[in-house]
This record gives sequence, C-alpha cells and structure tokens, in this order.
Amino acid sequence: SLSDRLGKIFEGLRGRGALNATDVDNAMREIRRALIEADVSLEVVRAFVEQVKERAVGAEVTRSVTPGQQVVKIVHDELVAVLGDTASPIDLNARAPVTLLMVGLQGSGKTTTTAKIAKRLSEKNKKKVLLASLDTRRPAAMEQLRVLGEQVGVDTLPIVSTETPVEIARRAEREGRLGGYDVLILDTAGRTHIDEELMAETVAIKDIANPHEILLVVDALTGQDAINVARSFDGRLDITGIVLTRVDGDGRGGAALSMRAATGKPIKLIGVGEKMDALEDFHPSRIADRILGMGDIVSLVEKAAEHVSAEDAQKMAKKLKKGSFDLDDLRNQLLQMKKMGGMGGLMSMMPGVGQMKKAMANSNIDEKMFDRQIAIINSMTKKERAEPELLNASRRKRIAAGAGVEVSEINKLAKQHRQMADMMKKVGKGGMGALGGMFGG
Ligand code: GDP
Repeated sequence: SLSDRLGKIFEGLRGRGALNATDVDNAMREIRRALIEADVSLEVVRAFVEQVKERAVGAEVTRSVTPGQQVVKIVHDELVAVLGDTASPIDLNARAPVTLLMVGLQGSGKTTTTAKIAKRLSEKNKKKVLLASLDTRRPAAMEQLRVLGEQVGVDTLPIVSTETPVEIARRAEREGRLGGYDVLILDTAGRTHIDEELMAETVAIKDIANPHEILLVVDALTGQDAINVARSFDGRLDITGIVLTRVDGDGRGGAALSMRAATGKPIKLIGVGEKMDALEDFHPSRIADRILGMGDIVSLVEKAAEHVSAEDAQKMAKKLKKGSFDLDDLRNQLLQMKKMGGMGGLMSMMPGVGQMKKAMANSNIDEKMFDRQIAIINSMTKKERAEPELLNASRRKRIAAGAGVEVSEINKLAKQHRQMADMMKKVGKGGMGALGGMFGG
C-alpha cells in the first residue's frame, strides 16, 4: 500500500546524516511509484512529485530534525495542500429551502449518501429536510429513496409517476417553501457512464432548482476513471464539492488525491460504510496522515473521547505515538472496549482497519473474556503492570490464584499484550503489521 511504501522509503532516509540530490531523487522515484500503485492518476502524480521535489531540494534542513523527517514533513504538507488545507463542510448559508443537488454515476452511492446527509442535517443540525428523487427512469430508485427517508425519519416528496425530472424539481421547490423546510436535497438520475442526454437533463434541473450546492458523489474504488468522471461533471455543472464513498474499502487512498487535483473542488464528506451514519467530514490533514501511514490519530482520539474523557484519549494517543503500551493501558483498553460494546470503537480506527475487522470477527470475543482479563490485570502489582517483563513463573502463579484463573490464561494475556504493544509500536512508527490472531490466543 501507499502507506507501507512511503514508510519504507522514509525508514531508509531516516538513518542518514544529510540529504543530497541523489537521496531526493531516489525518494521521489519511490513516491512516484507508490502513488501510481495507489491508483493516483498519472498527471496528478507527475505534478505532485515535481512540487515536492522543488521544495525538498531547496529546503534547508533544520537542526532539530533529520533530513528524512524533513522530507516526510514536506510530502505531508504538500499532500495537505493538494487535498485542500482545511475541512470544507456543506454550506447552508442561503435562503430556505437551501437546495442541494446530488449528481454522479449509477452505483456510486448517490441515493445512500443523500439519505445519510439528510439524517445528519436533521439530527445534528436540527434542520427540517425534504428529499426528492428525480430519477424518473428507474422507479425503483425513487422507491429506494422513499424507504431510506423513512428509515432516517426525513420526509420525501410524494412520488407522482407521470412527471418529468424538471417538473418534480419545481414541485419539490414549492413543497420545500410552503412546507417550511430548511433544506431540500434532490437526488438525480444516475448514469452508467457519461451520457450527453442525461447530462443535458441535469443541467436543465440545475437551471430550475438553482441549487446552493452541487455535490458529485464518486466511488473511491473507481480508480483512474474517476478523474474523467469528475472532470466531465464539473465541466458541465460546475460542482461545488465532492463526496467520496466507499472510503472504507479503499486502502490505497489515491482517489481523494486525484479528485481534488483534477477538479480543484473540495471533498466535503466521505462515506465509510453502508449504514446511515457511516458519513464523516473530510479532513485533509488526517487523510494525508493516513496516506503517509501515521494512522488516523486525530480521529482515534475524537472517537475515543466520545466514550472516555478527552484527557485519557490524549494520553492514549501520546502513548501510541511513543510506542509504549503497558498492562495498565491494556486494562484501560479492555474497559473501553467493554463500554463501546466490543471491538467496534477505538481499535477499528487504526490503520489496517480491514484486516483488523476480519481478525476480530474470526476471534469470538465475548464480554466475559474482557471481565476475566481485567480481573487478571487487577491482581497484578503496579510495578508488574508497568513492566510486564517482570512476569516470571512464580509471579504468574500468584496472579492466577488471585484472579481465580488458570496460569495458562495469564500466559495468553501476556502474549496478547505483547502483540498489541508491538502493533502499537508499528502504528506509532507508521507501519502496520499483520493483525491476525491477535485475540485468538
Ligand atoms: P446510486 O445508484 O448511486 O444511488 O447508489 P446507491 O446509493 O444505491 O449505492 C449502491 C451501493 O453502495 C449500496 O449497496 C450502498 O449500500 C453502497 N454504499 C454506498 N455508500 C457506501 C460507502 O460509503 N461504503 C460502502 N461500503 N458501501 C456504500
């Protein structure tokens, strides 16, 4: 993956005393290759590498960092710059009903995203939202939006099967205005490929609906072709933003980079799953971190903060960065996991989520196991928790007796802790190891 590749390149650079032109060239060659493998479009790769190279060769190496760290920082800053510097939320600053027009290829996740956005605006922003499907070609699509609307508790415009898309758009606007809605979201017809007739139809809808935002929904897994799709839509409709879906399945991260570079339009939201709340703000710096393989530490902290105090979460993030993880930390993790209802929360935010989830699903974790493990750690002395190396045979026997379990359970826990500590170290450093069997014992 891109993360792994860049990790390896910088590992090499980290050991050096000084950075010469050859080092920069070598690093850039690797970065170029990694980006291409990550499915970033060729022209974006070329431009990106040129930019980074210019800055890297010209840059002074600060005394306090190694040249390798300097390059990492330059690549990181440049990634953030290309991705858009700051988060870019949906803009609702207009007269009600504020109209959002959703466009994109069929199957990109347009209808799902429409419902996800509606849910978020109605629950978080307390907006009164009306949904309308303009997909007159596929009655099933209209029905799908109606069902999803019901599911998220948001109104949908009643379906009238004889109307044209433009007529529906007009009726939706009227209903939005008279019904006192804050936001109107129009889900347009999907197309399987760029199709002039449908594009002209969408332009006509745009002229009638006068949307405040035109959001292009793109599947992150589409690859090289996504860039052409984005350019075509943007060229005709002058979109205001992009929603990238299936980011949960895109370990390579290339799509975000290409989309943004190709259109210059901000990525506003990302879809991270099929469920209605699997929608997140797009944070350029976090994605850059993720691309560089540093793990999504900020999201990790925020997610954890929902369940534990912010202070605990920050301490945890610091430990992750430092790569130190003792048995007290494991105990806190177990308590948090219990609170979060299993392995969903904190752990799944780390890089390598996919493999992780699979490992979890295969490992039959039950609540009682958490309790037993917590009891074991409670039976240890403070010193043993801080320095697990101390756990020799006689100490293990004492702890087992104290916790009322077999010694083999202590061994299992010690092993599990060691594996987790190793993993934390890798997360802190930027790589990600194999996670299989972590909880299998
Ligand atoms: P549309 O044709 O563009 O309206 O696409 P749909 O909204 O019907 O979505 C197509 C499929 O993609 C559905 O099965 C969705 O559940 C799924 N989907 C949409 N967004 C995401 C996402 O962010 N992650 C994942 N894993 N699946 C998604």
